[in-house]
Amino acid sequence: MQHRIIVIGAGYAGASAAGRLARLLRREEVAITLVNAEPDFVERVRMHQLAAGQGLKPRPFSEMFAGTGVELRVAKVTGVDVDGKTVAVVDANGTEELAYDTLVYALGSGWNAQGVPGSAEHAYEIASRPGALRLRERLAGLDAGQTVVVVGGGLTGLEAATEIAEARPDLDVALAVRGELGDQLSPKGREHLRKVFDKLGITVHEHIAVAGVGAERVTTADGKAIPAAVTVWTAGFAVHPIAKLSTLEVTGTGQIVVDRTMCSVSHPDVYAIGDAAMVMGPGDKPLRMSCASGIPTAWQAVGAIAARLTGGKLSNAPIRYFNQCISLGRKEGLIQYVTADDRAVQAVLTGRLAAVYKELICKGAAWSVANPMLGLPARRRRVTRERAAADSAVRTPA
Ligand SMILES: Cc1cc2nc3c(=O)[nH]c(=O)nc-3n(C[C@H](O)[C@H](O)[C@H](O)COP(=O)(O)OP(=O)(O)OC[C@H]3O[C@@H](n4cnc5c(N)ncnc54)[C@H](O)[C@@H]3O)c2cc1C
Repeated sequence: MQHRIIVIGAGYAGASAAGRLARLLRREEVAITLVNAEPDFVERVRMHQLAAGQGLKPRPFSEMFAGTGVELRVAKVTGVDVDGKTVAVVDANGTEELAYDTLVYALGSGWNAQGVPGSAEHAYEIASRPGALRLRERLAGLDAGQTVVVVGGGLTGLEAATEIAEARPDLDVALAVRGELGDQLSPKGREHLRKVFDKLGITVHEHIAVAGVGAERVTTADGKAIPAAVTVWTAGFAVHPIAKLSTLEVTGTGQIVVDRTMCSVSHPDVYAIGDAAMVMGPGDKPLRMSCASGIPTAWQAVGAIAARLTGGKLSNAPIRYFNQCISLGRKEGLIQYVTADDRAVQAVLTGRLAAVYKELICKGAAWSVANPMLGLPARRRRVTRERAAADSAVRTPA
């Protein structure tokens, strides 16, 4: 009988994991099913580009996984029963329960309006493709001089504000940030950011806590109103509630708590990767929700699953950061080099070269997902039957 591995969620983390598992394990011994709500891969890191009117390359999973042995199931996951070891899915044909021996949970995240009044009704989000397309349509309908306020000074907010301002120089684009512009960056990084924001004519509202979003303005905690024909909310991501509704051990925000092999601390048959997982990184700090951490968590989980099933060695390689790659429109960029635990150091790369570097990173991430079997040595390891059976029994929950 084959060992059944189900990967739920085919974003950067889940799709990478499914491809790698197929590369490492023998088809006749392991059945890998990849469940995703949509039939094609969504390059989430380009959602601000999509919103600003650019076209994205279609990446159907049927092409990406052709010949890999991975069974693709286009369906929406509605729940996981981690004690009964099943995943509930729904598609056009109705509902079904899929049984697994090992589950890889990679459902990613969506936007997080943090309960700010009016945000659900009036704000636009770019954490998902439908959200980005909705914003794209709205932006296309704006007249010259109308205001767009991007809320959130994180990397997504910086990328969104600059992309929109570059694509629509006729609009009045503003960014509202809690602290100062780019305060997570080095002095050189901040200086460059200001220069690009000035060049693009973006107004920066600093030390702002947005307390409400209306149809034509955002209001701040200290009672000010900032005109906004369109408000784009980028202040944080939230994970899907599915894990929280199960008996998995999760954090208050719903991320699955895992050990350094990405194995759930409460359910040893479950691995969580990408945004869905709470992973402690260098300096005992949780990894930030990003591709930069999500793809390495997939590699880590795959290595551990293969090692445990085949009797191989577990990897000790820590996940660390090298840089933060920020696009500032299509012509400008900022590569902020960081310590292993993601703190900015002095060195930065700026300008056109940084834009090209960032583009190569995005292309490389999509390429590695779209070509899951290429570039990896095939080490089809034999599953040790006793090991697969004993696996969950031996690793008792912490
Ligand atoms: C505009 C923007 C720019 C970004 N830029 C960067 C960047 O430059 N660098 C960086 O490192 N990170 C960046 N990020 C963050 C990065 O995109 C995410 O951290 C990353 O996509 C997380 O990968 P993931 O595989 O965990 O989840 P996702 O990529 O979100 O994938 C989750 C998958 O699960 C599927 N899914 C969700 N719910 C269900 C369900 N119920 N049933 C079935 N399938 C489901 C989705 O369709 C999706 O395919 C950016 C994000 C945004 C929004």
